[in-house]
Amino acid sequence: MAHTVRRSAVLTPAIALVAGAFLVLAPTSPAPAEPATAEPAPAEPASCEPAAELDRRLGELGRNGYAWVIASQPLPGNLYGVTSIDARTVRIASNVPCELIPSVVNHEWAHTQQGYRYGTEIRTRRAFGSDAMERVADCASWLLGSTYTPYLTRDRKLTGQWCTGYELASARDLIGRATATSRG
Ligand SMILES: [Zn+2]
Repeated sequence: MAHTVRRSAVLTPAIALVAGAFLVLAPTSPAPAEPATAEPAPAEPASCEPAAELDRRLGELGRNGYAWVIASQPLPGNLYGVTSIDARTVRIASNVPCELIPSVVNHEWAHTQQGYRYGTEIRTRRAFGSDAMERVADCASWLLGSTYTPYLTRDRKLTGQWCTGYELASARDLIGRATATSRG
């Protein structure tokens, strides 16, 4: 259902644009008042498909041996993505705006790299600390080009701090490190 809401939200500007174009043309070519109902034009501008975005970004980063799925529903706590290092799964929430999917994939991919380094969820969390684990994943995500870095944005509001030097170094190490898939 969240999909339906999102997709119609995406379609609305396109329809508005078509209507606007019609209104601009109308004075010079007074067409017969044809109700603008027809079919929603096949000229849908570069539509964003969540599954295609997921595949495209993972094609660039690699899946790291994880099963990546777009969940059928929003995730508990309204999280946009959840990586289970022990289960080797990544779930992306159904309500992530399509254009943010690459950012969410970048962040979760960083978690898979963290997990690859430490092996299990508990060891990874222990190594980083839960909060730093998220911040470093966001720093890596940001270095990978993300426009959406919720933990950094939240913390900057609170403390004015973006990534620290240590976090950036840690994030660069995760990005530069061989991936689980490339090492087999
Ligand atoms: Zn995270």
